[in-house]
Amino acid sequence: MRSLARDLVCLLAAVSVSLPGVAQARPDDTEVTALLRATLTVDKPRVGANEPATVRFTLQNLSQQPLSILEWETPLEGVKNDIFAIEHDGHAVAYRGPLFTRGLPAPESYVRLAPRESVTAVVDLARFYAIDEPGTYRVRLRGRVSDLGTEDAAVLAASAQTARRLRPRPLGSNEVSFEQTGRRTAPPEPPPPSRRTAIAAAPVFQGSCNAADKAAVETALDKSRIEASLAAIGLAFLPTAQRPLSQRTTKWFGSYDLARYELVVRNYVAIYNGLASRQITFICEDAGAHCGADIAFVSHLDPFRIHLCPAFFRLRDDGPDSKPGAILHEMSHFQVIAGTEDHCRYMLACADLAVASPGLAVDSAQNYAYFAENDPYIPLRTDE
Ligand SMILES: [Zn+2]
Repeated sequence: MRSLARDLVCLLAAVSVSLPGVAQARPDDTEVTALLRATLTVDKPRVGANEPATVRFTLQNLSQQPLSILEWETPLEGVKNDIFAIEHDGHAVAYRGPLFTRGLPAPESYVRLAPRESVTAVVDLARFYAIDEPGTYRVRLRGRVSDLGTEDAAVLAASAQTARRLRPRPLGSNEVSFEQTGRRTAPPEPPPPSRRTAIAAAPVFQGSCNAADKAAVETALDKSRIEASLAAIGLAFLPTAQRPLSQRTTKWFGSYDLARYELVVRNYVAIYNGLASRQITFICEDAGAHCGADIAFVSHLDPFRIHLCPAFFRLRDDGPDSKPGAILHEMSHFQVIAGTEDHCRYMLACADLAVASPGLAVDSAQNYAYFAENDPYIPLRTDE
């Protein structure tokens, strides 16, 4: 997670330090490595047979000047070419995704990063690569940066249009691995849209948060963003014919109804946008007056301020009733996001609510958390 203090230091340094050669000439291969850091991380080191095989790509501007970077052949545009090298038990894994042939870039094909700023994207590799058999998969990026400079994207795009050529340079990353625990049987889905998201401003902390608390919140916030984006995209792209039959949707939001389904999609999109693009203030509360046995609290009408009680920090990092789920739950309460209520608290009660009162389940903060946490795993698609 970005550190605001460090960014300020770098911004100050940028006033007096310039980066020779970048503004006028395009950097060469070694300069790309010096200017940009591409990092892969895996969220789940063990992946069930038909679960997404998710990797997260982060691109950071290491320099002290703003940079415009062409997104092509990086995960920032999704996967439009074979940009990952994946090995399974020592053998290369086949790519079965699309192969795009490019024209010339437009200004919106670039991402602009301030000094030290990062941008991140999440990719489900199983949609693009033959990640079918159980075993260990090793993954690294073999993308390319085809245009890069300190100028605005519009200037770079115009100059690429004039020159009518680009000079791609390799963009590699660290290697990550994950284990798939069963044989994948679901057919590959169509590629999802680009999932590029600017990393939100770092959260602000108030109250009695110590360094460990802050680190725990930042990790959980990151994971809640991924869970919300997977929920929003999974639901939005579920084929219409499968929606009434989706076990996971039925489990947490009850029997199918078009208006309710669309409300849930809208709410996840809003939750994701809140988590990913708003600055959130976390207030660490002491045990006592406000908290009692509570985990966290917010006010519907005071958006993006989340009070955390000591019990929040005792939640697990992962799985059901986790810290990421609690953050997603609280985000859903804000009136400007989804305006949800607390109609149930624990798993059995929330599952019962979906059966008895689907209209309340789609208004229940904790049902959004359980659907997104998805643990124990329930398939979304009928062919999973
Ligand atoms: Zn609540």
